[in-house]
Amino acid sequence: MGGVRDEVNKECLEGLKAQTTDFAVGVDSDKALGLMELKRDPLYRRIPEERLSEYVERSLEFGRSAAAEKQGRSIREWLEQDGIAVETVGSSGSLFGTVLRAQIDWTGKVPKITVYRESMNQLAEASAAWPQAFGKLSAEAAEDIHLAHEYYHWLEYRSGLFTGERLAPVETFRWGPLRRKVSIRQSGEIAAHAFAQSLLELRHLPNLLDYLYLLHKGELDQSAFEKEMEKCREALGAGRRHMV
Ligand SMILES: [Zn+2]
Repeated sequence: MGGVRDEVNKECLEGLKAQTTDFAVGVDSDKALGLMELKRDPLYRRIPEERLSEYVERSLEFGRSAAAEKQGRSIREWLEQDGIAVETVGSSGSLFGTVLRAQIDWTGKVPKITVYRESMNQLAEASAAWPQAFGKLSAEAAEDIHLAHEYYHWLEYRSGLFTGERLAPVETFRWGPLRRKVSIRQSGEIAAHAFAQSLLELRHLPNLLDYLYLLHKGELDQSAFEKEMEKCREALGAGRRHMV
């Protein structure tokens, strides 16, 4: 694979529809939002319940410590220093059932991040409708978040080790002495969100923006979203219970 595509899969959100108005993410939302991201991994069900918090917390930590090494300069300065080109294109690269926000391609002579401007405008608009989450977020700020997110993927690629490979793989197949183990790729998404959050000093993990967008569009109901967040908090708590 020569790059990373970041998209929202609406199918993952099936069953999250209903209707209400008030909105509270909670002060300590990082882990719950991290788990929301982890749940999108096709192998999510293979992760033992008592290890969920470990996957989430370690992924968050990978992103944060990578960001700690990049303090003092803006994301655009880092991209320039590392010779990464940025292209902003108008229309959102929309695929069936998904919305493309940004992507990085490192197969060319120069690594390049593509950001979809229309998509950034949509996030800014959604954010303005739910200012409790990120305050008033401009399209430029949304773009910086996505640049930072993709830059983390670049750092992973350049290090030769992706986040998922730094965590224990899960067993997907066992037959007699045969075992097949696969790494949890979605952990890289959690880490990339944490990197962007930390570098840009955001109140919440930026995957919350995708939920704000769906809330704003009426494709996700707020009470259903909060219920899902609560379930995540409980699941992470369950992990602690088992660690005696
Ligand atoms: Zn990503």
